Amino acid sequence: MNPVLPHGPRKLKVATVSLAGCFGCHMSLLDIDERLLTLLERIEFDRSPLTDIKEIGHCDIGLVEGGLCNAENVMVLREFRAHCKTLVAVGACAITGGLPAQRNHLDLGVMLTNVYGSRHGLAAGSAIPSDPELPLPLNKVHPIHEVVHVDYFLPGCPPSADAFWAFLNDLMAGRTPHLGHGLIHYD
Ligand code: SF4
Repeated sequence: MNPVLPHGPRKLKVATVSLAGCFGCHMSLLDIDERLLTLLERIEFDRSPLTDIKEIGHCDIGLVEGGLCNAENVMVLREFRAHCKTLVAVGACAITGGLPAQRNHLDLGVMLTNVYGSRHGLAAGSAIPSDPELPLPLNKVHPIHEVVHVDYFLPGCPPSADAFWAFLNDLMAGRTPHLGHGLIHYD
Protein backbone atom coordinates (compact mmCIF):
# COMPACT_ATOMS: atom_id res chain seq x y z
CA MET A 1 0.00 0.00 0.00
CA ASN A 2 1.21 3.47 -0.80
CA PRO A 3 1.99 5.20 2.53
CA VAL A 4 1.62 8.69 0.99
CA LEU A 5 -1.67 10.44 1.63
CA PRO A 6 -2.74 11.17 -1.94
CA HIS A 7 -5.85 13.30 -1.54
CA GLY A 8 -6.61 16.80 -0.33
CA PRO A 9 -5.90 20.32 -1.52
CA ARG A 10 -2.54 20.76 0.13
CA LYS A 11 0.68 20.22 -1.73
CA LEU A 12 2.76 17.18 -0.88
CA LYS A 13 5.94 18.01 0.99
CA VAL A 14 9.05 16.48 -0.50
CA ALA A 15 12.51 16.43 1.05
CA THR A 16 15.61 15.38 -0.83
CA VAL A 17 19.17 14.74 0.22
CA SER A 18 22.48 13.60 -1.19
CA LEU A 19 24.41 11.40 1.24
CA ALA A 20 27.40 9.61 -0.32
CA GLY A 21 26.12 10.65 -3.72
CA CYS A 22 27.46 12.73 -6.59
CA PHE A 23 24.36 14.94 -7.03
CA GLY A 24 23.83 13.23 -10.38
CA CYS A 25 20.47 11.87 -9.26
CA HIS A 26 19.37 15.40 -8.34
CA MET A 27 20.56 16.61 -11.73
CA SER A 28 18.48 13.90 -13.38
CA LEU A 29 15.43 14.99 -11.37
CA LEU A 30 15.96 18.52 -12.67
CA ASP A 31 16.22 17.05 -16.17
CA ILE A 32 12.43 16.72 -16.21
CA ASP A 33 12.84 20.30 -17.46
CA GLU A 34 9.60 22.24 -18.01
CA ARG A 35 7.68 19.47 -16.24
CA LEU A 36 9.20 20.92 -13.05
CA LEU A 37 6.59 23.69 -13.26
CA THR A 38 3.80 21.10 -13.29
CA LEU A 39 5.49 19.25 -10.45
CA LEU A 40 5.68 22.40 -8.34
CA GLU A 41 1.91 22.80 -8.64
CA ARG A 42 1.58 19.52 -6.74
CA ILE A 43 4.53 19.52 -4.34
CA GLU A 44 6.68 21.86 -2.31
CA PHE A 45 10.25 21.12 -1.39
CA ASP A 46 11.22 20.90 2.26
CA ARG A 47 14.87 20.29 3.21
CA SER A 48 16.77 19.73 -0.02
CA PRO A 49 19.93 20.89 -1.78
CA LEU A 50 17.42 22.87 -3.88
CA THR A 51 16.21 24.92 -0.87
CA ASP A 52 17.81 26.74 2.03
CA ILE A 53 15.87 24.77 4.67
CA LYS A 54 18.33 23.42 7.23
CA GLU A 55 16.08 21.13 9.30
CA ILE A 56 13.70 18.62 7.79
CA GLY A 57 10.02 19.03 8.71
CA HIS A 58 7.21 16.49 8.45
CA CYS A 59 7.18 15.34 4.84
CA ASP A 60 5.17 13.05 2.61
CA ILE A 61 8.09 11.89 0.50
CA GLY A 62 11.83 11.71 1.13
CA LEU A 63 14.12 11.12 -1.84
CA VAL A 64 17.52 9.86 -0.71
CA GLU A 65 20.45 9.88 -3.12
CA GLY A 66 23.71 8.23 -2.12
CA GLY A 67 24.74 5.50 0.24
CA LEU A 68 26.27 5.82 3.68
CA CYS A 69 29.97 6.59 3.94
CA ASN A 70 30.25 8.54 7.18
CA ALA A 71 28.58 9.16 10.54
CA GLU A 72 26.76 12.29 9.38
CA ASN A 73 25.15 10.32 6.53
CA VAL A 74 23.70 7.90 9.08
CA MET A 75 22.36 10.71 11.28
CA VAL A 76 20.74 12.52 8.35
CA LEU A 77 19.23 9.31 6.98
CA ARG A 78 17.64 8.54 10.35
CA GLU A 79 16.18 12.07 10.44
CA PHE A 80 14.72 11.53 6.98
CA ARG A 81 13.20 8.21 8.00
CA ALA A 82 11.67 9.77 11.10
CA HIS A 83 10.14 12.68 9.17
CA CYS A 84 9.06 11.13 5.85
CA LYS A 85 5.98 8.96 5.41
CA THR A 86 7.45 7.47 2.26
CA LEU A 87 11.20 7.07 1.92
CA VAL A 88 12.71 6.35 -1.48
CA ALA A 89 16.20 5.05 -2.19
CA VAL A 90 17.07 6.93 -5.38
CA GLY A 91 19.84 5.63 -7.61
CA ALA A 92 22.43 2.91 -7.47
CA CYS A 93 24.39 4.44 -4.58
CA ALA A 94 21.42 4.52 -2.21
CA ILE A 95 20.26 1.07 -3.32
CA THR A 96 23.54 -0.87 -3.31
CA GLY A 97 26.25 1.56 -2.21
CA GLY A 98 27.07 2.10 -5.89
CA LEU A 99 30.50 2.90 -7.25
CA PRO A 100 31.65 4.50 -3.96
CA ALA A 101 31.32 1.02 -2.41
CA GLN A 102 34.28 -0.04 -4.53
CA ARG A 103 36.31 1.25 -1.61
CA ASN A 104 34.94 -1.62 0.48
CA HIS A 105 37.68 -3.77 -1.05
CA LEU A 106 40.35 -1.56 0.47
CA ASP A 107 41.51 -0.77 3.97
CA LEU A 108 40.16 2.60 5.11
CA GLY A 109 43.27 3.57 7.06
CA VAL A 110 45.56 2.77 4.15
CA MET A 111 43.33 4.78 1.78
CA LEU A 112 43.28 7.84 4.04
CA THR A 113 47.04 7.68 4.52
CA ASN A 114 47.58 7.37 0.78
CA VAL A 115 45.32 10.33 -0.04
CA TYR A 116 46.21 12.74 2.78
CA GLY A 117 49.62 11.66 4.00
CA SER A 118 51.79 10.15 1.31
CA ARG A 119 50.39 11.16 -2.10
CA HIS A 120 52.84 12.69 -4.52
CA GLY A 121 52.63 16.49 -4.52
CA LEU A 122 51.34 16.95 -0.95
CA ALA A 123 52.95 19.70 1.15
CA ALA A 124 55.38 18.57 3.80
CA GLY A 125 53.61 17.75 7.06
CA SER A 126 50.30 16.84 5.39
CA ALA A 127 48.24 14.41 7.46
CA ILE A 128 44.81 12.83 7.68
CA PRO A 129 42.32 15.59 8.73
CA SER A 130 41.31 15.14 12.35
CA ASP A 131 39.15 18.17 13.19
CA PRO A 132 36.23 16.98 15.34
CA GLU A 133 33.84 18.93 13.07
CA LEU A 134 34.52 16.43 10.31
CA PRO A 135 32.25 13.36 10.26
CA LEU A 136 34.11 10.13 10.86
CA PRO A 137 34.15 7.85 7.82
CA LEU A 138 32.58 4.40 8.11
CA ASN A 139 34.81 1.42 7.48
CA LYS A 140 32.56 0.40 4.60
CA VAL A 141 30.03 2.13 2.35
CA HIS A 142 26.51 0.85 2.97
CA PRO A 143 23.20 1.00 1.09
CA ILE A 144 20.56 2.87 3.03
CA HIS A 145 18.26 -0.12 3.53
CA GLU A 146 20.87 -1.59 5.89
CA VAL A 147 20.09 1.21 8.36
CA VAL A 148 16.45 2.23 7.85
CA HIS A 149 13.31 0.80 6.28
CA VAL A 150 12.97 1.87 2.65
CA ASP A 151 9.55 2.05 1.01
CA TYR A 152 10.61 2.22 -2.65
CA PHE A 153 13.73 1.85 -4.77
CA LEU A 154 14.23 3.90 -7.93
CA PRO A 155 17.14 2.31 -9.81
CA GLY A 156 19.63 3.81 -12.23
CA CYS A 157 22.89 5.70 -12.11
CA PRO A 158 21.11 7.99 -12.32
CA PRO A 159 17.43 7.15 -12.86
CA SER A 160 16.33 8.93 -16.02
CA ALA A 161 14.24 12.08 -15.91
CA ASP A 162 11.34 10.13 -17.41
CA ALA A 163 11.69 7.52 -14.66
CA PHE A 164 11.57 10.27 -12.01
CA TRP A 165 8.53 11.76 -13.69
CA ALA A 166 6.62 8.49 -13.90
CA PHE A 167 7.62 7.49 -10.37
CA LEU A 168 6.60 10.81 -8.80
CA ASN A 169 3.33 10.94 -10.71
CA ASP A 170 2.41 7.51 -9.38
CA LEU A 171 3.27 8.57 -5.84
CA MET A 172 1.35 11.84 -6.15
CA ALA A 173 -1.68 9.97 -7.45
CA GLY A 174 -1.56 7.55 -4.54
CA ARG A 175 -0.55 4.63 -6.76
CA THR A 176 2.20 2.13 -6.07
CA PRO A 177 4.92 3.25 -8.49
CA HIS A 178 5.24 1.06 -11.54
CA LEU A 179 7.91 1.93 -14.05
CA GLY A 180 6.99 0.77 -17.50
CA HIS A 181 9.19 -0.62 -20.23
CA GLY A 182 12.41 1.30 -20.79
CA LEU A 183 12.31 3.20 -17.51
CA ILE A 184 14.06 0.64 -15.33
CA HIS A 185 17.79 0.39 -15.76
CA TYR A 186 20.73 -0.01 -13.44
CA ASP A 187 23.47 1.91 -15.21
S1 SF4 B 1 23.45 6.67 -8.44
FE1 SF4 B 1 24.91 7.49 -9.93
S2 SF4 B 1 24.13 9.54 -10.39
FE2 SF4 B 1 23.14 8.89 -8.46
S3 SF4 B 1 24.47 9.65 -6.82
FE3 SF4 B 1 25.16 7.57 -7.30
S4 SF4 B 1 26.82 7.87 -8.80
FE4 SF4 B 1 25.65 9.77 -8.74
